[in-house]
Amino acid sequence: MQQRVLVIDDSPDIHALLEARLRPEGVAILHAHSPDEGVAMARAQRPDLILLDVEMPGRSGFEVCAALKSDPLTDALPVIFLTGLQTTYDKVRGFDLGAVDYVTKPFEPAELRARVRAALRTRRLLDLLSTRASVDGLTGLYNRAWFDRRLAELCADARPSSLLMIDIDRFKSINDQHGHPVGDKVIVAVAECVARASRPAEGACRYGGEEFALLLEGRSLREAARVADEVLTTVRALSLRAGAAEVRPTVSIGVGGTAELGRDPAAVLAGVDRALYAAKRGGRDRVVESVSGGTALHAGS
Ligand code: GH3
Ligand code: MG
Ligand code: MG
Ligand code: MG
Repeated sequence: MQQRVLVIDDSPDIHALLEARLRPEGVAILHAHSPDEGVAMARAQRPDLILLDVEMPGRSGFEVCAALKSDPLTDALPVIFLTGLQTTYDKVRGFDLGAVDYVTKPFEPAELRARVRAALRTRRLLDLLSTRASVDGLTGLYNRAWFDRRLAELCADARPSSLLMIDIDRFKSINDQHGHPVGDKVIVAVAECVARASRPAEGACRYGGEEFALLLEGRSLREAARVADEVLTTVRALSLRAGAAEVRPTVSIGVGGTAELGRDPAAVLAGVDRALYAAKRGGRDRVVESVSGGTALHAGS
């Protein structure tokens, strides 16, 4: 994807100059002509890099940088100061405010381009790192850390949401009979079923081992039970080769919603877990809904 650079400067000449000099880098350039417009655009657009003038009418670039760094929406956006101020004191102040670089005007276009490239390179790596930190290596689903954060967010949200906990049935015996590499293949295949049953932006997670969670934002218990049925059905249709043998996994699923289980993440998880274990006790390969005061076998199972 094309990276975007936001220029915040009160001088139209600087905008024209940067547009001409940075175009060969293949970046898209966004223009803000005042400190306030710059902060608003940074929040709305979340560019990959900000080139920030220091001397502007109203608020200085230092103040703008401090505002960006104290806002969780913009605090990770890299800032390069672009300024006529050349003293060591000003440079140190800029870095201490969280800037990644400091370029003095008049600047050498080649040097500015190199510094922009370096900042964008770092930005890309940090993006990759933060994505990897939320993703499970085996399945490509979100990991447990992401799940914990997202569950807390959904519980704090005004709209009710739902949660599925999905556990592969008698998985230990699949490992024991066919070996761990086949077990891993089963985990990956079931993960695909979980991902396919959810919308792309929804949270399909690997909770741990052979357990998965699906966070369904803004969806009722009824809708969630429908998604659970779909997972159950697509897993039943799986058939994996293990040498001469065939492995046909099944899953048990617990379903619950914040409308029924409340707003405490631990209580939601416990309620859905109770439903999952009721599904196991009831014979596996089924969906159980967590209803107020207990659990109920889902009719479609
Ligand atoms: P149940 O139907 O009650 O869920 O029984 P189960 O055998 O699925 O449950 P149990 O918790 O006894 O066993 C889960 C097994 O999953 C034990 C563990 O060795 C295995 N496991 C956990 N993570 C992985 C993994 O990444 N790969 C493989 N191959 N096995 C794993
Ligand atoms: Mg200026
Ligand atoms: Mg388990
Ligand atoms: Mg299991």
